[in-house]
Amino acid sequence: MVGIYSLQHVVDWLVPGRELFLALHVLGVACFIYIVSKRLVPLPRAQSDPRFDQPLVRMGRVFKFWLGQWKHPRYKFAGTLHLLIFAGFILLALRAFTVLIVGVSENFAMPGLSGKTGQIYDLITDYAATVVFLCMAVAAVRRLVFKPARYAVPARYGKGHTADAVFLLGLIAILMVADSLFAASRSAGHVQQGQPAETLAAFSLPWMLQMAVGSLPMATIWGLNVGAYLVHEITFYFLLCYRPFGIQFHVETSLFSIYFSKLERGTLKPVRWDVPEERLDQLKSFGVKTFEDFTWKHILDFYSCADCGRCAENCPSNAVGRPLAPRFLTVKARDYAFKHYPVIGKANNSKPLIGTVFSEDEIWSCTTCGACEEECPLLVEYIDKIVDLRRGMIDDGNVPQSLQKPLKALESRGNPYGKIEKKRADWAKTPDFQQSTKVKVLDGKNAADTLYFVDSITSYDDRMQSIGRATARILSHLGKNFGILGAAEKDSGHEVRRFGEEMLFMALRDHNTEAIKASGVQRIVTADPHAFNALKHDYEDVPPVEHISQVLAREARAGNLRFNAADNWLENRDRVYTYHDPCYLGRHNQVYDDPRDVLDSIPGLNRVEMQRSRDRSFCCGGGGLMLFYEPKEEQRMGVMRVRMAAEAGANAIVTACPFCMVNIEDAIKVAGMEGKMSVIDLTELVDQHMVCEGCPDRTQKLETATVGG
Ligand code: SF4
Ligand code: SF4
Repeated sequence: MVGIYSLQHVVDWLVPGRELFLALHVLGVACFIYIVSKRLVPLPRAQSDPRFDQPLVRMGRVFKFWLGQWKHPRYKFAGTLHLLIFAGFILLALRAFTVLIVGVSENFAMPGLSGKTGQIYDLITDYAATVVFLCMAVAAVRRLVFKPARYAVPARYGKGHTADAVFLLGLIAILMVADSLFAASRSAGHVQQGQPAETLAAFSLPWMLQMAVGSLPMATIWGLNVGAYLVHEITFYFLLCYRPFGIQFHVETSLFSIYFSKLERGTLKPVRWDVPEERLDQLKSFGVKTFEDFTWKHILDFYSCADCGRCAENCPSNAVGRPLAPRFLTVKARDYAFKHYPVIGKANNSKPLIGTVFSEDEIWSCTTCGACEEECPLLVEYIDKIVDLRRGMIDDGNVPQSLQKPLKALESRGNPYGKIEKKRADWAKTPDFQQSTKVKVLDGKNAADTLYFVDSITSYDDRMQSIGRATARILSHLGKNFGILGAAEKDSGHEVRRFGEEMLFMALRDHNTEAIKASGVQRIVTADPHAFNALKHDYEDVPPVEHISQVLAREARAGNLRFNAADNWLENRDRVYTYHDPCYLGRHNQVYDDPRDVLDSIPGLNRVEMQRSRDRSFCCGGGGLMLFYEPKEEQRMGVMRVRMAAEAGANAIVTACPFCMVNIEDAIKVAGMEGKMSVIDLTELVDQHMVCEGCPDRTQKLETATVGG
């Protein structure tokens, strides 16, 4: 009987093996390079995006989010499965390359992996191959039998992706079996020949296969060894070349996507990175209209999405039935790239995206809440892309009817309601309020070191004005030397910018920046997270800004802010509060603990958490000028949020944003929960409870009584 001495021996018998395997390697690698190079064609044609700064920070993110798979455990089962597969792949990478090279160089061993170390590595990778194989089986059963809802593809977004996913799982499983059978048959052959055999890890897949084939005739073992090798090699290269045709391309691109990911939360990309603001008016076209108007990083994102559906599952627009699911923005853009930049044939590009790939409603439906970006394990970005697409639509005069009036009003009056500038500070002129609190208008005659930036909704909306008064009373009680800009303040422009009206935003920003600088203040405080985010990230050259919750938490910790017990209030006795994180305070600026700490320093206040809280908070529906837009939807986001609060056992929602207040207040009415649920702003609650000499009688019901309660 012919003995099995080595793989080279085997292939020498079969064909001139070295040449065969070398040819397969060269062909596989060449195909892969060709396909990837074709996939990369749109990137240099795309817009610039300066992502080459801070290499150490970026490397840190690669370690955390790519190698450490940081976000995967947010989904416990699927995350654990992915972690195991990823760890298995990382461990098996060297073994796979070693097996490939052994075909052309029979005694090859990876540097550092010969002798004892190599044996230990082999044992570990025996288990790794087993774990990956089992994970493939579990993942396939999950896809085919349990069918998690987030993988489903609604008819309007095309065909389901299950078949492709299962095919890929099958290929990886074949790779693991081939790898294990190769090791098992080699070891079995050596045993039969009385040669020193590799020790296979007990109960691993290779070990079990060795048990199964060990007693077979030598020729069969030999055949299995050759067959396993060939299957391994062909599957390996097939997978390598097949991946760039679908979601598995993320295996190659995600590392780069994460390295080049956006570092600053809450910020928005400029219209064009390579065109300074003062030259924007010379641009022929604004925003994204064609595929090539995206930046190269955004196109890389399209390739890097793993189609896991986490973004869509957490997207409030998707949840309420708006025509937007972020996952499909990416899937459609990737399909577009594959179709218009084919692997074989010429690129066929520059088609308008709106109306062909994306619908107008889809792009207007986003509240820029950031839930999708927070959830994505591969740090795929959405808000910048959506705002860029909006910029393109605005540039084409494509503005939803309901938004035309507020935009005109913002242009002419500096607020979306069209109210006159002189009335901007009227909220501070009610007789009751003026008795207890004096608010300076920093108009050149008065000076202060803190500016309270009020913004439009709190200045003009009758209900929200009480947030302004509560904030001013608190600042006054804390002894802050503060003032407001009054008629000199215009809308912060935060929503305008996210709506895509960059030039209008710039005009508002420049006006406010001048007014702030002229006021001579050293710091800014605001009770509006949208103004907070704008002043912090969209403005330059203005003093540091804080949200009022940050000031309150600091003062409470320092003992300067003390509270009466919550249960001193008759109507508060059975009240169970829950805190709703506003998107632009929480997710975009990471202020989660301060508002909660303030609430928890009110003695006797009973607080529960909603299931979706902190970075998983559910948007109220107010961002991105949504207060003025009526999207197609099956229900309101606010209504869903109010129900979430009720499910948590709360009957009072505390928020820290006037936009949230408007939406939740409306939602309580729409949901028919008046009398069962109430909403109050954090400043109003603090104002009601703070121990304050000279404040109105705390035992009386204040003007800030909770809505709906
Ligand atoms: S930002 Fe919010 S609303 Fe917009 S796509 Fe992402 S999750 Fe959906
Ligand atoms: S964008 Fe991210 S979260 Fe959304 S489907 Fe793709 S990988 Fe998953």
